[in-house]
Amino acid sequence: KISSSRWRRVLLKVSGEALAGDQSQNIDPKIAMAIAREVASVTRLGIEVALVVGGGNIFRGSSRAGCSGLDRSSADYIGMLATVMNAIFLQATMESIGIPTRVQTAFRMSEVAEPYIRRKAIRHLEKGRVVIFAAGIGNPFFTTDTAAALRCAEINAEVVLKATNVDGVYDDDPKRNPHARLLDTLTHQDVISKDLSVMDMTAITLCQENNIPVVVFNLNKPGNIEKAIKGERVGTLIGA
Ligand code: UDP
Repeated sequence: KISSSRWRRVLLKVSGEALAGDQSQNIDPKIAMAIAREVASVTRLGIEVALVVGGGNIFRGSSRAGCSGLDRSSADYIGMLATVMNAIFLQATMESIGIPTRVQTAFRMSEVAEPYIRRKAIRHLEKGRVVIFAAGIGNPFFTTDTAAALRCAEINAEVVLKATNVDGVYDDDPKRNPHARLLDTLTHQDVISKDLSVMDMTAITLCQENNIPVVVFNLNKPGNIEKAIKGERVGTLIGA
């Protein structure tokens, strides 16, 4: 039954902001449940799903650094801890509807979650468990988009699916230019040379160097996560 699907193993990146929904802070449980339901239906088809979750709904290091003497590295550690909160919330939501889920953190928090062990993560996926990677790559000055690209390469996933609050990549800022066009496909190099705000440069170049395609799509449209994971046309496809 899996043969009809384009991908067999995917890396789904859920940003913190997407989890917040229209609440300006924190996590909207309805969104967490919607994500869990769609992931459940594809894991039932045998598609392996790993998640990287962001933390921008709670704390973003780059925008908080500098206040009250908070240096960038400390701010980024707080940001990474924020991703762990989101991961635990998502794990609880997924397991409440019967999806076996493991959280792996990039730095040790062994009372709370497993440490990141590449081969163990792959084994979980092979057993049909969803693996949520938390704490980014574990180093300050990076983003969870870079974590998504890196983990995707490490676990041999075929694609980064970037769930966002916009429909995909536009040729101009749709908020300022009403004639901005949604792009169907583009190359990694287009994103880099036109400086399109898809993901940061570290993340997109890592995808380019490792031939990892990226799909940017809107998670607020029901069915989109499922479509993206199954490899159906949705949003913008980069580099494939
Ligand atoms: N972060 C970090 N290293 C990483 C990943 C994340 O230092 O490898 C920190 C950084 O401060 C970032 C915050 O965690 O602002 C939350 O992650 P991100 O901003 O990528 O979340 P998203 O935009 O996806 O919600």
